[in-house]
Amino acid sequence: MCGKAIYPPTTFAAVCAADKIVSVIPVLVRGAVENIPQKLEMFYEGKAKKLYATADPDLVLCYFKDDATAFNAKKRGTIEDKGVINNRMSELFFGLLEHNGVKTHFVQRLNDREMLCRRLQIVPVETVVRNMVAGSMAKRLGLEEGRELNFPVVEYYYKSDPLDDPLIYPEHAILFGWATPTELETIHSLALKVNEILSRFLDERGVILVDFKLEFGRHHDEILLGDEICPDTCRFWDKASRRKLDKDRFRSDLGQVEEAYQEMLRRVQD
Ligand code: C5P
Repeated sequence: MCGKAIYPPTTFAAVCAADKIVSVIPVLVRGAVENIPQKLEMFYEGKAKKLYATADPDLVLCYFKDDATAFNAKKRGTIEDKGVINNRMSELFFGLLEHNGVKTHFVQRLNDREMLCRRLQIVPVETVVRNMVAGSMAKRLGLEEGRELNFPVVEYYYKSDPLDDPLIYPEHAILFGWATPTELETIHSLALKVNEILSRFLDERGVILVDFKLEFGRHHDEILLGDEICPDTCRFWDKASRRKLDKDRFRSDLGQVEEAYQEMLRRVQD
């Protein structure tokens, strides 16, 4: 085992100087390629996305579907044009994060539903950051939704469909070889940094970032932020009315699901 503490202590203070955060989305993102590699066979189909190999072994093509699932796929449906919105919103958020020094798998958006990404070996641990009580935290701890947390909480879940993605301690990830102590330390500080950047950006657009899920992966020995950042993976509430603008509208049959996704894209784009 390593000589120092294996579990990164929770950083309550902001991990990056707040005044250094840029809330502007750049037009060009690091690493855009001139020649798009040829799309090859599909090698993975998930609940919301399909992944295709490309002629470049370092790059994959990610296709965003309209399929929506909740409660570990016990509830299924379709959200019209969700794939288009999530693709575009992820492009904007990844661009914003890259601009603020967070390295991501994003290379460039190719069309309405496809994005070119760096190939990752995914760390089988989902990272959730919470700024307010909601969702499984409210249920697990018997707390009312909407209570503000004095500092953001970083939680880890083991990525396993048969086990319903159980909540874990970071020590479990280290003990069972899902991530190294150094990787977890990186993931922890990146998760807080992403929270700082996105919370500020959304706050300026009248949106509260209640919580969100991130996935990280290894690319040439470097930890990159992967997956997508969109209303499927985040809870967004309108600041003034606290109206939900995310997948909870689908999960809880609140109606106006498509409208909420479109409204969120407008807020992020404008
Ligand atoms: O359900 P829970 O409250 O734990 O979700 C926390 C956050 O993580 C929410 O924003 C939710 O959308 C996201 N999440 C996700 N994928 C999962 C579990 C949670 O995107 N498998």
